Amino acid sequence: MSVPRVSVAVALYNEEEALPELLRRVGSVLDALPGGPHEIVLVDDGSADRTRPLMEEAARRDARIVSVALSRNFGHQPALTAALDHVTGDVVVLMDADLQDPPEEIPRFLAEHARGYDVVYARRERRKEPLWLRFCYWAYYRMLARMAKPTLPLDAGDFSLLSRRVVKELRRAPERQRYLRGLRAWAGFRQIGIPVERASRHAGESKYSFGRLVELGLDGIFSFSTVPIRAAAVMGAVAAGLAILFALYAIYAKIFLDRSPQGFTALLVVGTFLAGVLLFFLGVIGEYVGRIYQEVKGRPVYVVDAVVTGRKDL
Ligand code: UDP
Ligand code: MG
Repeated sequence: MSVPRVSVAVALYNEEEALPELLRRVGSVLDALPGGPHEIVLVDDGSADRTRPLMEEAARRDARIVSVALSRNFGHQPALTAALDHVTGDVVVLMDADLQDPPEEIPRFLAEHARGYDVVYARRERRKEPLWLRFCYWAYYRMLARMAKPTLPLDAGDFSLLSRRVVKELRRAPERQRYLRGLRAWAGFRQIGIPVERASRHAGESKYSFGRLVELGLDGIFSFSTVPIRAAAVMGAVAAGLAILFALYAIYAKIFLDRSPQGFTALLVVGTFLAGVLLFFLGVIGEYVGRIYQEVKGRPVYVVDAVVTGRKDL
């Protein structure tokens, strides 16, 4: 098999501190790879710091680097989608800008690809995040794995290698709410996870607030599962079943025991509980409706402001 051309795709949001080190480390990994020319596609997700000028300067200096600047902050997954739309290599490696995903693992990804895998993703070994966050990740991935169709692999983030045909299928997916690790699993072909230790951030702080992390998590659930809707039906069936049983008991008690059920408190608890359940599932359905609304509007996932590259074909 010939040596594939590698594209490294990175989304950056206020990463001026990490960028030089990122380019240095990815650059030296690519230098050591046979074949080529390899490329680095950097997407600036509307940074407010010097990320964009630094990127564009690097792209002018180094023919391997392509800089794509979005018109504002669209979010990590849209920015990665933009990166996937601009890569030209035979394989693409998606990674974070903060060097939590060590670029030195790329040769291992390529080795698996050479063995015939279209998708090679990093399974996060030990995370270096606070304990409670690690617990949230752990619980979330296990819950999602049970709910999602197709089954999503455990503890797999965005750090991965995708073959060109997988990228082609991802580009074909029209959905606006992009949860790439789910789409990646959906694409199919031969996939394998390899254990990779996740480093701590090289510089700066996490660009995902807790709120955005929760949003990403909900995207995963609502984009790849209809279990929450079905849960409403199951809850409804259970509640109706219990109500029928209780009614039967009440009739029995009235006729044979000459007792009518009483209990204002119980009535109040049951009433408010069921109202709560109803509102909760109304919210769940609303979530799906809102997402349908987003999809139907069909707005582009991102808007490109400028592309800077020494390459001729863009
Ligand atoms: N990122 C982005 N747009 C955003 C937020 C984050 O492109 O709105 C990028 C960020 O620059 C980094 C990657 O997404 O390359 C992962 O973000 P971060 O490291 O902050 O997330 P964490 O690793 O803490 O989950
Ligand atoms: Mg990070």
